[in-house]
Amino acid sequence: MNLYDLNRKHLTQLVESWGFRPIHADRIWKHLYSRLLPSIDYTDKHLPKDLLPKLQSEASLFSPLLEADAKSCDGFTRKFLLRLEDGETIETVLMRYSGRMTACVSSQVGCAMGCIFCATGQMGFTRHLSTGEIVTQVLHVDRALRDQGEKLRNIVFMGMGEPLHNYDSVMTAIDILCDQKGLSLAGKRISVSTVGHVPGIRRLTKEKRNISLAVSLHGATDEDRNALVPLGRRWPLAELMDACRQYAETLDRHIFFEWTLIDKKNDSPEQAHAVGKLLQKIPSHVNLIPLNPTQGYEGKPGNNAAAHAFQAVLAKYQIPCTIRQRRGIDVAAGCGQLKELKQKVVS
Ligand code: SF4
Repeated sequence: MNLYDLNRKHLTQLVESWGFRPIHADRIWKHLYSRLLPSIDYTDKHLPKDLLPKLQSEASLFSPLLEADAKSCDGFTRKFLLRLEDGETIETVLMRYSGRMTACVSSQVGCAMGCIFCATGQMGFTRHLSTGEIVTQVLHVDRALRDQGEKLRNIVFMGMGEPLHNYDSVMTAIDILCDQKGLSLAGKRISVSTVGHVPGIRRLTKEKRNISLAVSLHGATDEDRNALVPLGRRWPLAELMDACRQYAETLDRHIFFEWTLIDKKNDSPEQAHAVGKLLQKIPSHVNLIPLNPTQGYEGKPGNNAAAHAFQAVLAKYQIPCTIRQRRGIDVAAGCGQLKELKQKVVS
């Protein structure tokens, strides 16, 4: 049993099932999430002596092993290649923008959604990550920052995988990261990014999860979108927009819509008008992200002029829009590029 898979309630139940008091579960929790120890401190006098052999024989603490650590030339991005217990690898990115430290976390090995411009989608789906494999990515980044006297405050689930396809593990991980007796991250500083997994959005709405939602759109008609995002055939735009509207109304919050800007594909003013009309009834913020290169897709990034023209059209619909700067490209840590470092290490 990997203790990193357990939220505090389940850890307490486990410790109680061994005949010890909840306060001892709190002590173990503190080792893991306040002190960020890589293992239980067996010299801790506050832990009963006979709890220690129980922990040693029935529990484990597995953290992914660091295989590679790549820093971008501009110093804003750092990408970690991590090896899991079964030998699979994932990538986690630390982004340092405007004084904000953000971890971009993976939720799966590969991805089943198959977005054609995305390196993770091009590699296909291998498996879901466990809660512990998600939580320990964050611990890894937080330890790296604390070594420099800094602290992690923001998490985005925009790494490898579709987080709502691995809903239970991702949400348990978020519960652990937000736990007041541990890392105590604020839910509103955690953003889950989906490419349009409608049942997942509906579940978030039902559970009234206090996190931010980002939806990757990339096309404003089913035909345009399906050409880039095959998942659109399963959940067409009408269904996706209905789920988004309900989410925004029920939770009284806006949704971030991500738009990968691809030259001559989806960067025209006509498409911007279509986006404006589509999002009219949803409190929205659009992020334009010029395409990042991957080996498996020949498209080119939309240029600066197209991005600004797109932004100007959205302004007419009173939709705020940010043009994202491309960063971390030299270490293949940009949006849609994760997996590339693995290839370089293996080859
Ligand atoms: S963009 Fe996201 S959902 Fe689409 S294939 Fe890549 S990782 Fe999966």
